[in-house]
Amino acid sequence: MVKVESLKKAYDKNEVLTGIDGVVNSGQVIVVIGPSGGGKSTFLRCLNLLETPTSGKVFFEGTELTNLGEKQLDDIREKMGMVFQSFNLFSNMNVLDNLTLAPKRVKGQSEADAQKKALELLAQVGLADKKDAYPDSLSGGQQQRVAIARALAMDPDVMLFDEPTSALDPEMVGEVLKVMQDLAAGGMTMIVVTHEMGFAREVADEVWFMDGGNIAEKGTPEDIFDHPKNDRTKDFLSRVL
Ligand code: ATP
Ligand code: MG
Repeated sequence: MVKVESLKKAYDKNEVLTGIDGVVNSGQVIVVIGPSGGGKSTFLRCLNLLETPTSGKVFFEGTELTNLGEKQLDDIREKMGMVFQSFNLFSNMNVLDNLTLAPKRVKGQSEADAQKKALELLAQVGLADKKDAYPDSLSGGQQQRVAIARALAMDPDVMLFDEPTSALDPEMVGEVLKVMQDLAAGGMTMIVVTHEMGFAREVADEVWFMDGGNIAEKGTPEDIFDHPKNDRTKDFLSRVL
């Protein structure tokens, strides 16, 4: 579904990704962990070519993205939902309009179809009663659940999450992780950058430990958390667990 080969990214002389190889199969949940500055966000942004890799290849459903023009890339990006630490909702629109805008504009859905799907998704994230609310009137956890529903409204094949709970007050982290856990249980392919080790342990099929611009170690949650092999993984976990 998603494959990267020898992916590198440099900003001037600063090599931020030094050669990443990896495969994410359909339905898998990959959790990416690692220290600040290790390249996790850059890696995610290279997957949908929000950042242009310096070299290497990215494949999505068999198509090499690193070869495509902007128009073709836009079509592919529709299939890759992304959720960030900051919720980035459209503050001048209510929740329903936040969800229906892109499906109508980009996919040409009718108002009725877009609303029907949006209401289903709001129910899925536990916010059916908030369809008329404006983002500012919602808690951080609610806003992030709307942001997830909005990404899902485009019917993506894969969801990329970059520290989706890092900006939340602690009491709201759980409700967002629950939505993500349900999504994983429903078979969504997901790549999740997070510091929530409990989520990684419970939900990940594979954990990728990223440090210094590469994946230092990959394995099942048991491999990584209970039997880490790499010294950098051990050191990182000793500080966060
Ligand atoms: P964090 O856990 O703090 O979010 P991260 O693992 O996501 O860190 P990145 O944000 O990918 O790390 O950053 C990796 C390195 O790339 C850092 O040294 C950062 O300063 C550098 N970097 C990221 N984006 C840019 C940019 N647009 N221009 C120049 N350097 C950048
Ligand atoms: Mg980051």
